[in-house]
Amino acid sequence: QSARRDAKKLGLNKADLPNSIKEVISTLTQAGFEAYIVGGGVRDALLGLKPKDFDAVTNATPNQIKEVFGKRCRIIGRRFQLCHVYSGRDMIEVATFRAPPKDNNHLTEDGMIMRDNVWGDIYQDVVRRDFSINALYYQPFDDIVYDFCGGLKDVENRTIRLLGDTQKRVEEDPVRLLRALRFKAKLQFDFDNALNQQFNAQNWALLAQVSPHRLYDETQKMFTGGYLVPMLPLLFDYGAFSQLLFYPPTTVTPLLNQVTINTDRRIGSGKSINPAFFYATILWENYLYLLDKFKKNTPFSDAQNQAANKVLDKQRQHTAMPKFAEQFIKDIWLMQPRLAQPRKKNLQKLFENPRFRAAYDFLMMREQVEAKNQALAKQHGAAITLDDESTNGMGHWWAWFQTLGAKQQQQAIDEFD
Ligand code: ATP
Ligand code: MG
Repeated sequence: QSARRDAKKLGLNKADLPNSIKEVISTLTQAGFEAYIVGGGVRDALLGLKPKDFDAVTNATPNQIKEVFGKRCRIIGRRFQLCHVYSGRDMIEVATFRAPPKDNNHLTEDGMIMRDNVWGDIYQDVVRRDFSINALYYQPFDDIVYDFCGGLKDVENRTIRLLGDTQKRVEEDPVRLLRALRFKAKLQFDFDNALNQQFNAQNWALLAQVSPHRLYDETQKMFTGGYLVPMLPLLFDYGAFSQLLFYPPTTVTPLLNQVTINTDRRIGSGKSINPAFFYATILWENYLYLLDKFKKNTPFSDAQNQAANKVLDKQRQHTAMPKFAEQFIKDIWLMQPRLAQPRKKNLQKLFENPRFRAAYDFLMMREQVEAKNQALAKQHGAAITLDDESTNGMGHWWAWFQTLGAKQQQQAIDEFD
């Protein structure tokens, strides 16, 4: 077989794999099935990166996988049925070989895939994958990598290439455009020529037919992968935001620049991030704009609610966030002026608010940007003006407050004016 490669010669060693993926592959193999690691786990390992997670693929059907793993397996998905198999603390996604969607009753009128649960063999499975670099199959116990489509060469040349007819693969599933940008940001690869031509308004418009829930999930992967700094300019440059956001900003604003840096830094140091935090930031300008409009004829707190609701209502049509994420965003926004211009008697209550931490992080981020702007203004001899939305330096006050013990905090509150 010409597709067969020696995994060891490619630098892949099963000793580097987590036990969970090894256990899943060997359990399936011992039950008489074929099983491979596929996708990002192989791609990243070949590049010497630490894979985020491992996906497995097998000729066992979901029901057969369930029989093999019993309670450790959950079948999920409809359009795209697969199994979640729990091994130790890890969860491994196990998919069944699929045939490419060729007969038309799986497609909508526009050629988009509706259902995708026709089982196939490994030769069929490979062509339904998105990019060649994601279509390498690794059997760690036989030390074999199967490369049916030149994926290894593309890894070597650092090229992102859609398998098959590029235009058709985009029409079939336009989310692949977002995935392409994500892998470009993550791996610093280039697109091949055919793919490079796909980022046009016509193709982006196809995203309007993708479920807003799926788009939200996909944006979460883009925003929380730890490579938001290179990701964000790509989303602007390639035109993705026009479809993802109701009210897309036109450039990377200083606040957006700051949030990308902070987000990647947090992820890099192993801290958790709330995926909605980025949305709170990217929608903030739009919220402020509406707030400014509404507050002219409405009491401030009503105007806040109206503005927040309107932004979230509009955005929901593009990327549907879970309700708790929307609530999180709203809470962060509404708490900003309360943290920036607090009344003395409210300080303790604000601090004890369950959203304090997130709202404080947001305030601090705004203050970082404000400080940078002021430094710039000073450099150019311009007058510094603080508007209504200034953080009043309260980010630093709250930072200091949090370093105090209970007694000192009480004193700080008493002395606050
Ligand atoms: P990551 O490092 O982000 O996990 P990944 O390549 O593993 O990257 P997943 O979303 O985990 O990406 O998907 C696993 C594999 O499933 C992909 O590598 C690809 O082979 C296949 N796949 C995922 N989404 C699609 C899609 N929209 N069209 C075709 N194949 C896809
Ligand atoms: Mg993966």
